[in-house]
Amino acid sequence: MVRYINVKSKTRTEFVDITEKIQETVKEAGIANGICYLFVPHTTAGITINEGADPSVQRDIQTYLNKLVPFEGDYHHREGNSSAHIKASIIGMSSHVFVEDGKLVLGTWQSIFFCEFDGPRHRRVAVKFTAGDKKQA
Ligand code: ZN
Repeated sequence: MVRYINVKSKTRTEFVDITEKIQETVKEAGIANGICYLFVPHTTAGITINEGADPSVQRDIQTYLNKLVPFEGDYHHREGNSSAHIKASIIGMSSHVFVEDGKLVLGTWQSIFFCEFDGPRHRRVAVKFTAGDKKQA
């Protein structure tokens, strides 16, 4: 079964830390060991795993993505949000994390971020699990 978590972005470009929400989903699903797949079913948002301890890292990523792909440009897409579509493709719309002993296996400084590029909006992230090997004695 595919589960969904809701994300509400507050600004045009924003990284929302969804690590705790995903961890809660692992608990609800009762997954001890396996793989957690994350998919963003939107065309102007993405997902990334990066530094969660220092918020200036997220700010720097956003600042440089905005420099690389400015909001205004020689775009053809009539909706006016081509930069968001391009950034979503650069960042990517899926990720996965191993689950061990009921916990997401992340590095000390890593967090899972929903990446909004065309907010503010109500968004969703699809979460699916596959059960993995049994814990070895
Ligand atoms: Zn568009």
